[in-house]
Amino acid sequence: MTRPKLDIRGVTKRYSEATALQPTSLQVAPGEFLTLLGPSGSGKTTLLMMIAGLTETSGGEILLDGKEITRTPAYQREIGVVFQNYALFPHLSVFENVAFPLRMRKRPEAELKAAVGRALELVRLGHLATRLPRELSGGQQQRVAFARAIVFDPQLVLMDEPLGALDKKLRDELKLEIRKLHAELKKTIVYVTHDQDEAMLLSDRVCLMNEARVEQVDAPVALYERPRTRFAASFVGESNLITGIVEDGRVRVGERLLATAHGDRLPASDQPVTVLIRPERLRLAPTPQAACLQGKVVDVIDLGSVRRLSILGDDGAGLTMTVLGGGQPIEIGGDVWLMAAAEDVVPLMESAS
Ligand code: ADP
Ligand code: MG
Repeated sequence: MTRPKLDIRGVTKRYSEATALQPTSLQVAPGEFLTLLGPSGSGKTTLLMMIAGLTETSGGEILLDGKEITRTPAYQREIGVVFQNYALFPHLSVFENVAFPLRMRKRPEAELKAAVGRALELVRLGHLATRLPRELSGGQQQRVAFARAIVFDPQLVLMDEPLGALDKKLRDELKLEIRKLHAELKKTIVYVTHDQDEAMLLSDRVCLMNEARVEQVDAPVALYERPRTRFAASFVGESNLITGIVEDGRVRVGERLLATAHGDRLPASDQPVTVLIRPERLRLAPTPQAACLQGKVVDVIDLGSVRRLSILGDDGAGLTMTVLGGGQPIEIGGDVWLMAAAEDVVPLMESAS
């Protein structure tokens, strides 16, 4: 990475009895959309608030454009922030809410008017500038909050579950708007969510968090296809976790051997290992000899475009498999032989630390 826009070096947060964030290092490139994804309580908001300067760090350094800002007051950081609950001033008009960061910075009136106008056009609210927040829908209020976060041309924009208070239809709409906004503005964005679909749709890279530390940082597709840990595999997408014993660079499951293209991730021979195979990467084998797994069909859900099979593996483990719809009927109770490409058999570590 050329000089990162944001450079987090060993930042940590302790409260009297709890560690909200273990020492964490993370770099965000200029113009990048990076998402902090993880379950509730994993430390996402804590990290975001320390970047914003709204929570003090207990250790480590934060650099913005190469300059240390760890102890710089929030209002001097040139960082825009959007929260879940809009946090608009209820007694100020839409225009004045968006103008607020510029008034704080004592920008001349003409410049202020032009910048607020541009920001409101960008979120398609130019026609509602004189309304009060309570006269707007939730989605519109959140768009005002976006406009306010970008109006002063900040170096970095932070968003903490900005769609969390909206219903699903609005969430889907605004997700696409945020994507478009990022493409147009090319701002560096750090975004927090616990929703994997949101993270996959929006992000250049995802920083997956678990129990106060970073589990994995990767592009969405890499996180899906090559998660490093059991947690990462289970948190993002659906997963079949298959346990076996390492044997000559392969994985023995019952009578059969599973080949993996990720041998560098396997523990030593004779050690137990868990591998991931995504449901859509399992295929029905043409012959029993070609199979690497064997089982019985327990249930078939035909959704038209796809069929989802529940399979009880020979070793007693449950497997899920997705196949395209149509084709021959699949009988419940029948024996099936399954295979997977070596590329799609991904050994997992128990944990990231
Ligand atoms: P997330 O945003 O991922 O849901 P948070 O960053 O809000 O998680 O919280 C991480 C952990 O830090 C949680 O266990 C939470 O209870 C704890 N925590 C957050 N704020 C405080 C606080 N002010 N005092 C004590 N513990 C806190
Ligand atoms: Mg949070």
